[in-house]
Amino acid sequence: MDKNLGKRFEGKVAIVTASTQGIGFSIAERLGLEGAAVVISSRRQKNVDEAVEKLKGKGIEVLGLVCHVSNAQHRKDLIENTVQVHLTDHFKLDLEFDPWNLLFRLQKYGKIDVIVSNAAANPAVDGILETKESVLDKLWDINVKTSILLLQDAAPHLQKGSSVVFISSIAGYQPPQGLAMYGVTKTALLGLTKALAAEMAPNTRVNCVAPGFVPTHFASFLTTNDSIRKDLEAKTLLNRLGTTQDMAAATAYLASDDASYVTGETIVVAGGMPSRL
Ligand code: NAP
Repeated sequence: MDKNLGKRFEGKVAIVTASTQGIGFSIAERLGLEGAAVVISSRRQKNVDEAVEKLKGKGIEVLGLVCHVSNAQHRKDLIENTVQVHLTDHFKLDLEFDPWNLLFRLQKYGKIDVIVSNAAANPAVDGILETKESVLDKLWDINVKTSILLLQDAAPHLQKGSSVVFISSIAGYQPPQGLAMYGVTKTALLGLTKALAAEMAPNTRVNCVAPGFVPTHFASFLTTNDSIRKDLEAKTLLNRLGTTQDMAAATAYLASDDASYVTGETIVVAGGMPSRL
């Protein structure tokens, strides 16, 4: 893959949440290979360290932080640490003379060009009417609310021409049994994409990717079962499940200037599974 990639994110800074494995990791990898400095995170330090090593091994400029998306301090630290000065090959240090205090100030490089909001939870497979209030709260909290709160913290640092991408799901179009309430939170992201695209225009574009089924840890309760897997493959037109790289390619397109006239949209990347007309 690496050989044929462009450099659409040269000089850009990209935050990808929940990015130490699976779809988030592949998105960070893709943006990084295309030239972005990427900020990756997840709940566990060990996972962060391992993912940072893998990305560095591919020559990617990467900062790794622990961030449980529902922890307010973690979210603030994620943004603050991103916009602090990092002395690397990509970034030069600017000194600015302050005539009033007769001193040189360290000018922060600080900026954010891309945010990919990728974290999600699916803590139960109950029907909606049987789902406990605590589970409803957790689904709303992690799958929707924290995306909004992270953007509130990030907004002052978003550049003109910046881009936000939410990761929804094919389940957002037709919430399936066992994933119904999870699917409803993913439907909410489609609305959030439209609403924020209007609110953040014209400086920031806001779009969304709705993946089909991808064999990751998150989906392993479905994709490691042979008969369910075959069923899911048969529901696609391309006779296969998705790959994390398929999702990364669509996300990179939306985040890049190639999509500079695209905002408020969701791309379904599901091998032709039924979604909408
Ligand atoms: P995955 O492979 O299981 O990876 C999940 C990542 O998120 C890990 O890096 C994990 O690391 C981190 N994480 C989990 N909870 C977190 C939290 N509360 N805060 C911060 N980080 C957290 O999952 P995936 O399949 O790539 O899913 C990524 C996104 O794609 C989700 O939004 C999911 O809804 C969506 N999606 C997936 C599929 C699919 O079939 N896989 C289909 C449609 C949509 P730690 O354990 O270290 O936190």
